[in-house]
Amino acid sequence: MKLGNFVAGRWQEGNGQGRALRSAVDGQPVATIDSSGVDFAEVIAHARSVGGPNLSRLTFHERGDRLKALAQFLLQHKKEFYELSTRTGATRADSWIDIDGGISTLFVFSSKGRREMPNDVVYLDGPPEALSKNGSFVGQHVYTSRPGAAIHINAFNFPCWGMLEKLAPTLLAGVPAIVKPASSTAYLTELMVRRIIESGILPPGALQLICGGVGDLFEHLTCQDSIAFTGSKTTAEMLQAHPRVVSESVPFTAETDSLNASILGPDAVPGTPEFDLFVKEVTREMTSKAGQKCTAIRRIIAPSSVSADLVRALSDALGNIRIGDPASKDVDMGPLASHEQQREVRARVAELAQEAEIVYGGLDDFDLLDADPKLGSFFMPTLLHCEKPLRESAVHSTEAFGPVSTILTYDTLDEAVELARLGEGSLAGSIITNDDTVARELVLGTAAYHGRMLILNRHCAAESTGHGSPLPHLVHGGPGRAGGGEEMGGVRGVLHYMQRTALQGTPETLTNIGHRWIRGSEQKDPGVHPFRKTFEQLELGDTFVSESRTVTLDDIEHFANFTGDHFYAHMVEEDARRNPFFEGRVAHGYLIVSFAAGLFVDPDFGPVLANYGVDDLRFLQPLNAGDSLTVRLACKQKTLRGDTGYGEVRWDAEVTNQDDEIVAQYDVLTMVATNEHWNSVRNETT
Ligand code: NAP
Repeated sequence: MKLGNFVAGRWQEGNGQGRALRSAVDGQPVATIDSSGVDFAEVIAHARSVGGPNLSRLTFHERGDRLKALAQFLLQHKKEFYELSTRTGATRADSWIDIDGGISTLFVFSSKGRREMPNDVVYLDGPPEALSKNGSFVGQHVYTSRPGAAIHINAFNFPCWGMLEKLAPTLLAGVPAIVKPASSTAYLTELMVRRIIESGILPPGALQLICGGVGDLFEHLTCQDSIAFTGSKTTAEMLQAHPRVVSESVPFTAETDSLNASILGPDAVPGTPEFDLFVKEVTREMTSKAGQKCTAIRRIIAPSSVSADLVRALSDALGNIRIGDPASKDVDMGPLASHEQQREVRARVAELAQEAEIVYGGLDDFDLLDADPKLGSFFMPTLLHCEKPLRESAVHSTEAFGPVSTILTYDTLDEAVELARLGEGSLAGSIITNDDTVARELVLGTAAYHGRMLILNRHCAAESTGHGSPLPHLVHGGPGRAGGGEEMGGVRGVLHYMQRTALQGTPETLTNIGHRWIRGSEQKDPGVHPFRKTFEQLELGDTFVSESRTVTLDDIEHFANFTGDHFYAHMVEEDARRNPFFEGRVAHGYLIVSFAAGLFVDPDFGPVLANYGVDDLRFLQPLNAGDSLTVRLACKQKTLRGDTGYGEVRWDAEVTNQDDEIVAQYDVLTMVATNEHWNSVRNETT
């Protein structure tokens, strides 16, 4: 089977012989790969002129809806992905990480897009910045989609997840993707892309696929395109130095090698739950995906006092791992992805063995289940041990991308920190301890060298997602050797594909651009109380100014008795005066908010369905008995919630006293019915 390239809206096979891709299990040909004949200028032009405009017409919420629909669609096709996945050497558990893990990333980004981003195409970064005395000139950071293409170059180890974890934030950002999977496992990516295209869920041009070399693609890039690379440090450095990438300042994110460390705390001696957890975690990280995980534990940092016990326990655990045909239910670990990879890992282990002793594994001849060692690229889990490694030791710089890890020992926490830092930047690190003082010291010493850290103990073990699992909610990437990049991390990952711009102008102009009302913009008289208006009828800036109400000492005492809040500052004049903030008894902050609601709420049945919270509440000025308060409520932001029949309306609330001083500021969050919903409810009622 010849893999297809999906370019400019059509499937196109390469016009050369192509390269044969073989099963990791038995060496049988699976497909050939070839991209010769692809017109890369056309590919990039299609992304820019078709994919980009199609995506940018959709709001973040609409893009999120597509991601959800796509995830649901892919779930229906899981079976064929799992079947093909075994050829890559993946066991069912490995495929679950790759396939289900990838699909769940689509779900998470869909949800993040719909919940944490506006139903719009502009994303506001933070609040407005006051830049002038009279408020006529303000600043606002905004993110807009780059009108280019995102080039995704992926590693061989996760042909599905690797594509989807980049694709989800890219599409949410409104940017079309050109995906280039690693050749050796590209057949699985290609199958998934075929299904995605067949689904018709993504707009035309949103996704293109290159199976094979990328030809002169880089020659066509501009500053509006971007490259997200996963693979080896050597390739990343080579691509990042491409003259076009340099001259056009093409944004380049790299996720590369990592000598991730896991540190066993001094408290976690044999017999503690943490010691057992450590053994389990290291064994799982060494053997899941046959150790071909960029986040796998390569360096096991443990107190020298327990190293003999640890060698014994890990050797026992690794001895229980059944290696063989990943399609077999009895098998825990499959082969490496290719013979090339097998040769590569063998060579790296030989390098490591110059400086560390092999204490388990390292054999060419070992038991296999249902598999032929000559045909498949199997590798025995191999554990090395190095007492007090030197700073320049290979154990800190040689990555054997397979089921290989080295125990390094320490006597003091400072030594443990130094060993972890010698990895010179990692994607993931972990600390296994039940002593939070140790955890803090190790985190402060090593966090700057890591993109993500797991602190594991008996209390979170049952629910922990583990050392090696990147999560769509959390950032993935790390400094130094790990490439210096960052992906995912929820909305952060989306923003990597967008451009942040600082806008300066009048509050009115910036309100109209960002669709969030800024103080100082026009306050419109809606003619009726704004609670009488439906979602569509409401306009940003629609304002209601309340009557004023005087707060009495009786009110304060009544509120205290009613709520049970008898805090001295509200109840005891003398004590209140001793407090540096007050000149006497003051009203409760929550009394102010409650009275404000009483002043601005329009009580009759209407389109406002519910109040679901307040944001950014600040009490800025104490309110004493005898003071009066007034509220100004302005419609600040509207977010339609799909076809639910309602939308969120955020109101800017400002409470002032009789001297026009601001007493409190906050956002009131409400759900407001759409015209259609409101009309149907009203008709039912009448
Ligand atoms: P690699 O050789 O660097 O390849 C990575 C990707 O780059 C593949 O898609 C490869 O395509 C492509 N590539 C190579 N040369 C290229 C060129 N001249 N132009 C454009 N693309 C090019 O890495 P690998 O051996 O596949 O992967 C193993 C490495 O990846 C390990 O070191 C591992 O640590 C790292 N990795 C890191 C992460 C992470 O998230 N940080 C995840 C997984 C793996 P071809 O396959 O077609 O050559």
